[in-house]
Amino acid sequence: MKHETAKSAALFERAEHVIPGGVNSPVRAFKAVGGTPRFVTSATGAWLRDADGNDYIDLIGSWGPMIMGHSRPEVLAAVQEAAVNGFSFGTPSTGEVELAEEIVARVDPVDQVRLVSSGTEATMSAIRLARGYTGRAKIVKFAGCYHGHVDALLAQAGSGLATFSLPDTPGVTGAQASDTIVVDYNDAAGLEAVFNEHGDEIACVITEASPGNMGVVPPRDGFTNTIRRLTKAHGALMISDEVMTGFRVSAAGWYGFEAESLGYPEGPADLFTFGKVMGGGFPAAAFGGRSDVMEHLAPTGPVYQAGTLSGNPVATAAGLTTLKLTTELDVYSHISRAADALRPAVTSALEAEGVAHTIQSANSMFSVFFTDREVINYGDARTQNVERYSAFFNAMLDQGIHMPPSAFEAWFLSYAHTDEILDRIISALPAAAKAAAAVPNTQAN
Ligand SMILES: *Cc1c(COP(=O)(O)O)cnc(C)c1O
Repeated sequence: MKHETAKSAALFERAEHVIPGGVNSPVRAFKAVGGTPRFVTSATGAWLRDADGNDYIDLIGSWGPMIMGHSRPEVLAAVQEAAVNGFSFGTPSTGEVELAEEIVARVDPVDQVRLVSSGTEATMSAIRLARGYTGRAKIVKFAGCYHGHVDALLAQAGSGLATFSLPDTPGVTGAQASDTIVVDYNDAAGLEAVFNEHGDEIACVITEASPGNMGVVPPRDGFTNTIRRLTKAHGALMISDEVMTGFRVSAAGWYGFEAESLGYPEGPADLFTFGKVMGGGFPAAAFGGRSDVMEHLAPTGPVYQAGTLSGNPVATAAGLTTLKLTTELDVYSHISRAADALRPAVTSALEAEGVAHTIQSANSMFSVFFTDREVINYGDARTQNVERYSAFFNAMLDQGIHMPPSAFEAWFLSYAHTDEILDRIISALPAAAKAAAAVPNTQAN
């Protein structure tokens, strides 16, 4: 069933006059999948409602934050209560202490956090701190890892850049990019070679804790430990970017899951970045780690970092309430069960139509690649048949399921994805698989 989209289309046209491409974040424009982006007017639980009055089951979840579902009553109440007491003070306030305590209590190696307003700010500030702490200039990142739109980190990034296959972006100068070294993810030998050549110039290695912005590509064969061993041996810091995985894949994020399942014989990362879930849908993010590193920040240390809205009382109330609910309601088991129900259903629907695919997981977080190979890095991820994903996406959308409008993204589940919601998603899969199968099987190499 095609939806009526006249009102969304009219809004998009208006938007295109006053906002570049009509959107405030590129992937929202539906360029990769075609069609009219839906302008959402309200959202409750697992549902989005658009300007034309259509309802969709949401598998974007604001790209991660909405782990409790939309407009969760307890979060809404906390936001209302905070707002009544004022919107922003520019002084220290109670909520930011509570949110910082909650994060520090959850993630063992994090002694202190500094709150910021976006994941981009968190990674940018963590990089600055690592450079200030080590007195070194170079940083290492992995191809396909996205750390927000920080100039120095846009080299071979995932997310929107994967969607649009932009190699890099104009506006980042050679000087800004020249201190960034890009290595393939899961390439231990490649990383070792870089350290052998530049070991004493490298301030830090930044990695997604378990990459999710080129699709889900978990670390294999103890790759996290390899990063830790090499950074330690060469006096560089390790930054684990948990903006997507933090407080989503376990109560302590990817750190908690991997520390328990694999162990960290070389020790944990020095710095961590958080965002998305910890803001509960509001602009709150953080970076944190060992006290002796964090104390290099102003006002205790020389590395400057600041923010007018940092630790905003409304955002911290939403984030703290969201975090507390995730453990009180055992949201992590709920999402694991939901993912366990969805993955085999996707496989059987796609197999029935002979559609090559690979499902990969970081604990409960998963994505579906339209390729038949295991995806261990960005090169593998780009072999997928994105036209097949577009056909799949549009067939799901026509049936009222709003997937991420890009083949390079995780499917975001929440506590509001009940069995009934999952059944609706599952019953939409066969028609979407058929639509994907109708696209020729040309896989890039
Ligand atoms: C989303 C994301 C960011 C950027 O966060 P913003 O709040 O969009 O600036 C950084 N790192 C990772 C791993 C992310 O998924």
